[in-house]
Amino acid sequence: MYFDKAETYSREDIEKVQLVRLQSTIERARNSRLYRDRLSGVSASDIRSIDDVRRLPFTTKDDLRGSYPDGLLTVPHEDFVRLHVSSGTTGNPTAVYYTQNDLNSWADLMARCMHMIGIRPGDTFQNMSGYGLFTGGLGVHYGAERLGCLTIPSGAGNTSRQIKLMQDFRTSAIHIIPSYALYFAEALEKRGIDPKTDLNVRVALIGAEPHTEETRRKIEDSLGIKAYNSYGLSEMNGPGVAFECEHQDGMHVWEDAYIVEIINPETLEPVKEGEVGEIVMTTLLREGMPIIRYRTRDLCRFIPGTCACGRQHRRLDRIKGRADDMMILKGVNIYPMQIEQVLMAMPEVGQNYLIELDNDGHIDYMRVRVEVKGEFFIEDMRALNALQKRIQTSLRNEILITPKVELVEANSLPKSEGKAKRVQDLRSVY
Ligand code: ADP
Ligand code: ZN
Repeated sequence: MYFDKAETYSREDIEKVQLVRLQSTIERARNSRLYRDRLSGVSASDIRSIDDVRRLPFTTKDDLRGSYPDGLLTVPHEDFVRLHVSSGTTGNPTAVYYTQNDLNSWADLMARCMHMIGIRPGDTFQNMSGYGLFTGGLGVHYGAERLGCLTIPSGAGNTSRQIKLMQDFRTSAIHIIPSYALYFAEALEKRGIDPKTDLNVRVALIGAEPHTEETRRKIEDSLGIKAYNSYGLSEMNGPGVAFECEHQDGMHVWEDAYIVEIINPETLEPVKEGEVGEIVMTTLLREGMPIIRYRTRDLCRFIPGTCACGRQHRRLDRIKGRADDMMILKGVNIYPMQIEQVLMAMPEVGQNYLIELDNDGHIDYMRVRVEVKGEFFIEDMRALNALQKRIQTSLRNEILITPKVELVEANSLPKSEGKAKRVQDLRSVY
């Protein structure tokens, strides 16, 4: 039933384990250059309950960059066996080092996630995620092997080869980022392959980039599978931090391995239960590079109440976006996911879109370029105009400003190998 005993912990068990591990994390962290001074005023005995974590200083992305490459390391260099560097979606990269123990506990967490959604030894698992420095490659790979799956490190892209591997080895589970999953479904359709009858895939791990419930449903329907949301970040190992269970109602964050807080990014105080704020995380199992109260910049909330599966690890809602992703247009705050939510609910919309912020010399405006599926992209101007108006109205209802909407042919917008780039700000050229 469970991969790890920790899945059966009560709240009391979880907090007991957290407290002991937090105390030893603080002691370990002191061995690093960054925390030696920062933690000089705190001793483990000041930490009597989990709430005392709030007495500890935050760690920001700038701290990590400032201590690049090795200012957070707590053990000698020869004890490390792996190094990942974050993909740098929002700026300079940061380096994360792992000891063998760190890799083992990461693989265990990842295997726990996959087991939770019914993946078992005997499954053939195709990891369609970029390898290399991106943690979604090796991180998920070692989890799948730990679980006992036949694991195919197919990597990202090369769609024809992906399909061939899937057919030849009867792949039953995959890991794929959402933007590629949408593209992949379309590629199958184009080749006349019906995934429901011609392929054996039944389940997917999707994550690494923000996506909406509408996008998930679209992936599930077009591939005939169940798709589970997976959250992680290199600073906290990589994938395997929080993961949906079979109820698909929020992602259980493994609280025996991380302390998670959600704070108001302005006041730095905890938000009220169920409110959206910034996720702050502390590692509890990391040996070589513990990180305390890391401000992730990811905006999210805890889903109140307990999950029908019985696990007491709290659930994170879908990530609303990164604080860095917020667009401000005419004084209105807008997140790309609000736009995706509207677009992906429309059957005519294809797999890609691009948000452009522009200026006509006087005022800022937003242009949303939307790919329309082949069968809807017809020569009938009246129908296309009507669709364009409908998209524009729905977007205005959601974001409160009226964007320009441009319909384009399927596969005409630029697409990236890794995480999708949804927003282009062209205003700075003026
Ligand atoms: P980078 O920050 O360079 O993209 P990472 O690969 O470490 O490097 O990316 C981690 C980030 O990816 C998270 O902080 C979050 O913003 C995003 N992310 C990861 N998983 C999800 C998910 N399931 N939903 C939304 N966003 C996610
Ligand atoms: Zn659950």
